[in-house]
Amino acid sequence: MEKVRIDDVDNDVQPAAVMRGLTEPLGATDLAINYYELEPGDSFAFAYHSHEIQEELFYVQSGTATFETESGDIAVEAGEIVRFPPGELQRGWNRGDERVVALALGAPLSYGEQTTLRECPECGERTDHDLTRRAGASSSDEAVVAICAACGTETGEWTRGSTPGEVP
Ligand SMILES: [Zn+2]
Repeated sequence: MEKVRIDDVDNDVQPAAVMRGLTEPLGATDLAINYYELEPGDSFAFAYHSHEIQEELFYVQSGTATFETESGDIAVEAGEIVRFPPGELQRGWNRGDERVVALALGAPLSYGEQTTLRECPECGERTDHDLTRRAGASSSDEAVVAICAACGTETGEWTRGSTPGEVP
């Protein structure tokens, strides 16, 4: 048995005000669990993406999350839950005025291949990107950077609790 107080878990680097990874603290072996709080303009993810193997579910506890999906934008309101099967592209945002509180569940733990699509200003279209974690002098300087796989342009950089400034 493992019990975790979510507030006690460190904030991770994501384009969201709060992202606490609960998988390791809980010792979960087959399920990824992340707690999110999104300020208006924040996102759950670094890119429009899909996982080859992992299915992903989002339970929205408060606020309204909006997911870009292959069938258009889908609003997921408080008390609703959405599932994306393996291979389906999606990216969730907070496009409302209220903070979004949500739990993301993914299974199995392994992604398999990840498709990561972002708008590249150099290429003038959405391209495949590589996400790289850059170590800093301290954990608060640690960053994730997104680099266009086609031309090498850096299209995004995030630190812990940073605001993304990329509302679509
Ligand atoms: Zn490019």
